[in-house]
Amino acid sequence: MKYRCALLYTFWFSVAAALFLSATGTVWAVDDAGPVCGSGSNAAICFASIDQRGKLDPAQRQTLAGVGVQAIDIISSPDFERELTAFYRTYDWRSRDAEHQGYWRDFNPGEAAARTRESFNGLHIETKGGVRAWFGAKLLGNLAYEGDTRADGTRNIRLNRNRIDRSIPELINTYVHEGGHKAGYRHRASQNDDQKCEPPYIMGQIAQKLADPSGWAAFAKTRNACSYWRE
Ligand SMILES: [Zn+2]
Repeated sequence: MKYRCALLYTFWFSVAAALFLSATGTVWAVDDAGPVCGSGSNAAICFASIDQRGKLDPAQRQTLAGVGVQAIDIISSPDFERELTAFYRTYDWRSRDAEHQGYWRDFNPGEAAARTRESFNGLHIETKGGVRAWFGAKLLGNLAYEGDTRADGTRNIRLNRNRIDRSIPELINTYVHEGGHKAGYRHRASQNDDQKCEPPYIMGQIAQKLADPSGWAAFAKTRNACSYWRE
């Protein structure tokens, strides 16, 4: 009789714990690759899934879920729009070539932040491995693929599995860059200094700056950052 009571207590404790965890909404969302939403007032913006096809180990998936929360919060923040506006006001894109000018001419910082934020909503964060992704990472510096939009309307981006082992601010940069593509912002294909100053790159760089203010000066010196930050 006593034994049965202990079992019942265990059962009800498990039910209570499960209800509590699902009510708080974060713990299981990572394990089942379920929605990953922003925090506070950004809770309505959610990535649909992280690693839905289960290609990562749980720790990596958890990291990418955390990156998702931060990416939503940063793209939604007044600081992001403020930084992007400040860049756009002072950056001399008109002195660059015609292709570059085309990317910036009708740019609107507030609209770009809002559209990229909206592009996150319902987006699946997938990954890509295999030979092509390996060569892409090693030879071309590829970090992620824009992914596709399927017939049923679901959209995904694909992180290069060979480059997932980067810092969280760098991964936030990648989410925002690829989200910018989903929102319709583009850059040239050839890797040069101007490319790194085109809209998806700039938005990603600003997100990285906000995620890691103390690491920004070092990053801005590298060739992965727009030359504007070095001038
Ligand atoms: Zn890109």
